[in-house]
This record gives sequence, C-alpha cells and structure tokens, in this order.
Amino acid sequence: MLEVQGKRRYNGGIYLVLRESNMTRRRLVVGNWKMNGDHASSQKLLAEIVAGLPADTKTDVGVCPPAVYIAGLAATAAGRVHLGAQNVADQDAGAFTGEISAPMLKDIGCSLALVGHSERRAIYGETDALVAARYAKAIGHGVTPILCVGETLEERESDRTFKVIDDQIDAVMATSGVGSLRQAVIAYEPVWAIGTGRTASAEQAQEVHAYIRSKIAALDADVASTLQILYGGSVKADNAAALFSQPDVDGGLIGGASLDAASFLAICLAP
Ligand code: PEP
Repeated sequence: MLEVQGKRRYNGGIYLVLRESNMTRRRLVVGNWKMNGDHASSQKLLAEIVAGLPADTKTDVGVCPPAVYIAGLAATAAGRVHLGAQNVADQDAGAFTGEISAPMLKDIGCSLALVGHSERRAIYGETDALVAARYAKAIGHGVTPILCVGETLEERESDRTFKVIDDQIDAVMATSGVGSLRQAVIAYEPVWAIGTGRTASAEQAQEVHAYIRSKIAALDADVASTLQILYGGSVKADNAAALFSQPDVDGGLIGGASLDAASFLAICLAP
C-alpha cells in the first residue's frame, strides 16, 4: 500500500511523495553486457554468476548478453538467471534488416528486453515514440520490457530532469497504458552516470524514483506499489547497498560491473 509521506513542488505544480507501507517488491538486478565478450567468455561469465548465487537468494537476477549469444546461454542460465535482450523490434516480422522481434526473443527463452537504453537513444537516434513502439511489442508477446529513462547532465543542470522523465514515460503510457506496467520494469539511468564512474547519490536516485512512482500512482496506485524501479549508472559493489536501501530503489541495471562475475555477484548480494 502507498501512503502519502509529503509533497514536493515541481514545474509550478505539486507531486505527492509516497511511501510503501508494506514492502512486497522483490529486488531485481540485471546486467547489461552491451557489445562485449565472445562465445567462450559469455559462457564462463554466466556460469560463474550462476555458481555464485546462493539457492536462497532473495534477489532476482538477469543478464542481457549480446543477442547472438542469448540462445546458447539458456542451458548455462539453468533457470536461475533470467536472460534478456538489449533491444527489441517495433515490428513482429518482415523486411526490417538487423532487427530482432519479441516473438523471436520469446522463442529462444528470453524473458526480458531493455528498451530505450540511453545509448540507443543517443547513438542510434531512438525517439520516445520508437521506444514506446518497441515496448508495446515486448508487452504484446510476453517479454518483460525494462524501460530505461533518464536525463543528460545538461538537462539536470537546467532543471529539466522531471520533464524528460515525463516525456519518456508519457509516450509509453499513451501507447500501452498504465496497466502494462504490471508486466514491465522501469530503470532510471541518469545519462551522466552511465559508464562515467559518476554515480547519482542515493538521495538523488531516491528523489527521481519517488517521482516516477508518484507519477504512476496518479494513474494507478496499485500498479505503482508493485512496480519495480531499478537504478542504473556506475553501480559498483561499494555503492550498491546504499542505493538499494532507498525505499523506491528496487534493484539495479548494471553495465561495466556486470562483466566481472565477482563484482556483479557482490552487487546482486548487497545487503
Ligand atoms: C548501463 O549501461 O545501463 C549502465 C548502467 O552502465 P554502467 O553501470 O557501466 O554505468
């Protein structure tokens, strides 16, 4: 259940700061391997992660390897680590060279897909509308989208963080509706913290996570209370616990540190 803890001003209006009175959300930690590794190193990394995860861990764990390796990793994942893609097509099939569809991902046992990662948005020009279309396809085929949102440094410094988050989430809500978030995850990834070694403080992360939850709660309080919101941006073994202890931070999306089994496991097992 969500309780109103306070109010904050934003953009001439007021949003409610909500607090979960009965925490039921499981922690989720997902590694984004990006375009790294090869067949052998992917197998080794995942095998080490699986071996290091205690059977009774309370954290759900996933990895997003390069797409060509996903199918070959299913046996190694052994049902203990969710497999995810780093993107998903906005179409089901046809003449869309280079794209991989949600039905294809489903077919090879892939249960997660990143959508709207900032590298896709910045380097490949993916717009909020395209990201929303990709998200809709994942939802439509039972692949859990991890919707990545976040502001650049320039946007933060000009006080546009919440506006950017609004636009990124609103595009998805307009296409798929708030109910779709029952089957989805949101990752808040400030662009200035990705791969830079510069992490948002736990308080900075919590502020935006609380904003996202309150925004969703305004549409559907029930959905907001169960929605997992991950933080991503230079999460390491030594800052994971502080970030994950925030009330609205339900885990992490991990880039660089997910390429080393010991570092990734330390994050997965952070208190
Ligand atoms: C990412 O790319 O999603 C990410 C969070 O990267 P890093 O952990 O390396 O900042």
